[in-house]
Amino acid sequence: MQTYVIATNNMHKLKEIRAILETDKRRFISMEEAHIHTDPEETGTTFEENALIKARAACLASGLPAMADDSGIAVDALNGEPGIRSARYCEGSDEDRVYFLLKNMENVPDGQRGGRFVSSIACVFPDGTEFTVRGECFGEILREMRGQGGFGYDPVFYDPNEGATFAQIPQERKNAISHRYRALMKMKAELEARGL
Ligand code: IMP
Repeated sequence: MQTYVIATNNMHKLKEIRAILETDKRRFISMEEAHIHTDPEETGTTFEENALIKARAACLASGLPAMADDSGIAVDALNGEPGIRSARYCEGSDEDRVYFLLKNMENVPDGQRGGRFVSSIACVFPDGTEFTVRGECFGEILREMRGQGGFGYDPVFYDPNEGATFAQIPQERKNAISHRYRALMKMKAELEARGL
């Protein structure tokens, strides 16, 4: 049995990870459970680099293999912004950041409002082995918020396959189609291909 530390104290993320990646060969613990605390500066220029920075710090602090994710929303008409800056796009709350995004997209016409949620997950081992996987979900950025569920940019992210925003679909449904789910499925395949 190999223990991996997840560079998060977010129990919701841990639950999602456990549901997909835990087997009788692997178990996953939070930083708190590993008795470590790391909060490295995210100086990377890509989701992958920032996920690696967080996973390396957790691996170094714990001596255990570590995984970390970095995610955000990338808007085509804004050349991929807010991207890795999604969580700190502007001061204030999640809602303030959604309004800021809508304001910056005010003049973007319908038909050119494509965007994607991205999740990159990095896995780092004490022997220096590293790899990353990426999951993406494509959609359109609406002009106003719709729905009460989800978090972050969910209320303005319209998924054409669902005919709804990520804030309008049930949590379980989102967890079965999200960028994080897709990245986790790739991580599962990668671990299995490596015999881990
Ligand atoms: P983090 O990787 O958990 O720090 O997330 C980065 C930021 O990206 C969050 O603060 C959200 O603003 C945004 N984000 C990431 N995933 C989602 C999602 O599933 N829905 C809405 N916003 C998200």
